[in-house]
Amino acid sequence: MADQDTIANYALEKVDGDVRAEHLDVLIVGAGLSGIGAGCHIQKRCPGLSYALLEARGTIGGTWDLFRYPGIRSDSDMQTLGYSFRPWTEAKAIADGPSILNYVRETAQEFGVDRRIRFNHRVRQASWSSAEARWLVEAERTDTGEPVRLTCGFLMMCSGYYSYAGGHMPEFSESERFRGRIVHPQFWPEDLDYAGKRVVVVGSGATAVTVVPEMAKTAAHVTMLQRSPTYIVSRPSEDKIANWLRKRLPAKLAYRIARVKNMALGMYFYRTARKNPEKTKQQIVAMARHALGPDYDVGTHFTPSYNPWDQRLCLVPDSDLFNAIRTGRASVATGHIERFTETGLRLRSGEEIEADVVVMATGLKLNLLGDVKLSVDGSKVDLSKALSYKGMMFSGVPNLASVVGYTMASWTLKADLTCEYLCRILNHMKRRGYVAATPRRDPSVKEEPSFNLTSGYIQRSIDMLPKQGSKRPWKMHRNYAMDAVALRFGRVADGTLEFTRR
Ligand SMILES: Cc1cc2nc3c(=O)[nH]c(=O)nc-3n(C[C@H](O)[C@H](O)[C@H](O)COP(=O)(O)OP(=O)(O)OC[C@H]3O[C@@H](n4cnc5c(N)ncnc54)[C@H](O)[C@@H]3O)c2cc1C
Repeated sequence: MADQDTIANYALEKVDGDVRAEHLDVLIVGAGLSGIGAGCHIQKRCPGLSYALLEARGTIGGTWDLFRYPGIRSDSDMQTLGYSFRPWTEAKAIADGPSILNYVRETAQEFGVDRRIRFNHRVRQASWSSAEARWLVEAERTDTGEPVRLTCGFLMMCSGYYSYAGGHMPEFSESERFRGRIVHPQFWPEDLDYAGKRVVVVGSGATAVTVVPEMAKTAAHVTMLQRSPTYIVSRPSEDKIANWLRKRLPAKLAYRIARVKNMALGMYFYRTARKNPEKTKQQIVAMARHALGPDYDVGTHFTPSYNPWDQRLCLVPDSDLFNAIRTGRASVATGHIERFTETGLRLRSGEEIEADVVVMATGLKLNLLGDVKLSVDGSKVDLSKALSYKGMMFSGVPNLASVVGYTMASWTLKADLTCEYLCRILNHMKRRGYVAATPRRDPSVKEEPSFNLTSGYIQRSIDMLPKQGSKRPWKMHRNYAMDAVALRFGRVADGTLEFTRR
């Protein structure tokens, strides 16, 4: 550990003539769930490599620190959203945001990764030099504005997938006329008092279904206003089997079993839904009908026109959304917004919904690699023209990987596998004396979209996203078991990843 600290802090080398920049073997961008996980994996699997994390914000946690809206929680179970190497030991499997943040912080402390983080460093640009076999990384201190330059052998982008600067805000006409307050969940105002107020939540995605039952506890009434319905599935917030196992077995073993169980169940449900969409659709709609009672118009409000998993399913714990609707504290309106009025919103149908507070749960704005501008030997990298290699590296871009999780299962399942695989690449390079690893594109591989989701946030950004290829290793499995086998046991030197010596 002392050795690594020494390397991390004092490895100053010459770059660009006489400018001296600190050099690290690995730079991790981002100290969220993925960045902290990446640090732990490197620490464990690549002893002797120097590394640091650059984090734009002043704190650990990324998503789990940024979002502060009422009821913020996971929508997948913590047995699979938690790290493979550190058990989740709390009773709730669907956990609240502060508990998840605490888990990420404790993990960072336990593995000493917290000491490697340089806070308030926003990475702006990274330039690869083949001659030097290193990245020149240019960052800016978000507290002082001061520029910071570092070099690294390998760049691990753990910068998430959406912009921290702003969420997706569709323009609704005459919003300036509205006398109440409009808020976006990404920037929840601390002073917002909605007790006894009429609230409209625009949207019916993961955020909307979280915020509606929570706000309904004290608001006069909450209306979830959606353009079209989403599949909503209720699951118990506590995983009885996981809790039973934890009381009887050592924490790590209990966690591992519960993790495998939940992963297998998740994969089973996903595959069944894709194979048998009509039957799955009927089952989900029947669950909503059962929860809401025979008189409720489930056809209008809870029956989407697309198939399950064309977009992410929304999970609600212990039927909380359905219960809020059943008790009359919340309701759902389905229709298109025509405009704001002074006192609320008017729909194209002519219906008006009165509101004191409007919550725009209208989604995120995707971004790529934390908006870092990349160049390789002086040429700008356009990732929309690149092919994604094994869902982590990009054709023609040496020594750079992006740690991204699953969209149809818990993020961390894939993020963990990606980090393990990157550690295998780093160790292979060290053993064989390679300085660069570059995925080289095979002209016979056809391009395909990387995501098969029709969700608005993906479709709005599809043009800027890298593509996947028509065959391995350019095609993504979207299946944990297949990914685990390929990434844990597949050959690193697979003929596609080109390794070079200095
Ligand atoms: C409200 C919400 C709930 C979610 N719930 C779930 C869930 O239940 N299950 C699930 O699987 N997924 C969920 N997700 C997806 C979620 O984002 C991931 O699970 C996970 O938290 C992503 O972690 P990350 O570290 O990759 O990214 P982030 O949490 O976004 O962290 C990225 C970090 O990188 C930093 N950064 C970005 N760009 C730069 C830069 N240029 N320079 C320096 N630092 C930079 C950011 O400041 C941030 O700290 C949810 C997402 C949201 C928004």
